[in-house]
Amino acid sequence: MADQRLETPVIIIGAGPAGTGTSFFLSKAGIAHIVIEKALFPRDKVCGDACSGKTALVIKRANPEWLEEILDKDKEFLPSWGIKFVAPNGRDLDIPFTAKRTKETKAPGFTVSRLKFDNFLFEKMRASAYCSVYQEAEVLNIEIKEDGMVCVRMRQNQQEYEIISRIIVGADGDKSAVRKKFINADTSPKTYAVGLRAYYEGVSDMHSDNFIELHFLPEMLPGYFWIFPLPDGKANVGVGILSEVIRKKKINLREMMLNAIKTNPAISKRFANAHLIDKIQGWGLPLATEKQALSGDHFILTGDAACLIDPFSGEGIGNALYSGMLAADAIQKSIAQKDYSKEFFKQTYDDVVYKRLGDEFRISTAMQRLCKYPWLFNYVVNKAYKSPSLKNTISCMFTDMDMRDQLRKPSFYFKILFNK
Ligand SMILES: Cc1cc2nc3c(=O)[nH]c(=O)nc-3n(C[C@H](O)[C@H](O)[C@H](O)COP(=O)(O)OP(=O)(O)OC[C@H]3O[C@@H](n4cnc5c(N)ncnc54)[C@H](O)[C@@H]3O)c2cc1C
Repeated sequence: MADQRLETPVIIIGAGPAGTGTSFFLSKAGIAHIVIEKALFPRDKVCGDACSGKTALVIKRANPEWLEEILDKDKEFLPSWGIKFVAPNGRDLDIPFTAKRTKETKAPGFTVSRLKFDNFLFEKMRASAYCSVYQEAEVLNIEIKEDGMVCVRMRQNQQEYEIISRIIVGADGDKSAVRKKFINADTSPKTYAVGLRAYYEGVSDMHSDNFIELHFLPEMLPGYFWIFPLPDGKANVGVGILSEVIRKKKINLREMMLNAIKTNPAISKRFANAHLIDKIQGWGLPLATEKQALSGDHFILTGDAACLIDPFSGEGIGNALYSGMLAADAIQKSIAQKDYSKEFFKQTYDDVVYKRLGDEFRISTAMQRLCKYPWLFNYVVNKAYKSPSLKNTISCMFTDMDMRDQLRKPSFYFKILFNK
């Protein structure tokens, strides 16, 4: 028997970007909800700590003042202006995120430790009168009763709760219990990557405009080694590789990363005076390479629980927040129409997610596959190094999806070949 019984229109499991994103927009719509989180905030999450323009966009939609706060605190949220690609042959290419930059322009991206960033989101979330948060809470059971009510049994502070609702949102990350319960299938190994994160101090030659760096080392393709600048002279350093490649080639990821730091000529000299300031930690990345169900009767999955990480860049924070925003919209409609069915959520959530993000996922999946061909990568980077217009084209690809789609087409490479 539960000690307490609570009723709420929506239950959200998980208070990372997907959970907070859902909560922000439910609160905006005046819909009460309960958030159940197993950790105690502030809590860490293994990540590259790089936030893109999509992250900024959702935060701005939730509340423009929150984005202003982030942009004003540029010592905590380090503004990032671009990306450095290092091709397998070692040639590097600096691509600004924005082709036109004026004094007034704000940086499109920023880097911040997830410990800080997620806590920022968490505090904004729990300030809302519509949101009740239970931290350090253990979900004991999730079920849908015959009358169509979702029932979550949860324990917090030795008290047991039974929480009743019409809708449950799985925002509980890559090992989602909600996903396991309702989708009843583990993520296919093909769509999974594994990443390692290490915090360093004293890495030299960081870009003056805080460009994030992706080093496509031949031994890691189609994955990469990264160095992302952080506030206070720190850096987030890591590797991310497809699980199937790790398995097939029997890769020891930690050894591979430390080996690159120690022996790669361009990288090792930058680590000559650097030191590790935290233990190296790993985590999974469920990638959005295949279209799959994101919802069902009475439930919606968001963020990593829905496998929405960009298959090329590994970006998942923006998609987690964005899917949360779309989930809240679908929930609002479902409550208004008293329809919590699989068919309704497919139309109002799954279809909308894939309409908005599907092209991006397809292009990124194609780019990830192209990375298996180092010569092609070297070729594009060599050409762009010499051609300002090609560099500009690649820069525009960050904001223009039609431009990015060019990367999938043989005609793009043909044009480069003949300098058209
Ligand atoms: C090595 C690595 C590097 C990455 N680098 C980047 C990057 O630079 N930029 C980027 O955009 N993305 C990056 N990602 C992806 C990004 O970290 C994720 O996509 C993002 O965290 C997803 O947010 P989420 O809210 O879905 O899940 P999470 O951030 O994992 O949050 C899930 C929350 O649910 C809670 N939870 C889990 N289970 C339960 C439960 N049973 N009950 C209650 N609560 C529960 C957890 O405690 C957590 O707070 C990286 C990922 C990895 C692994």
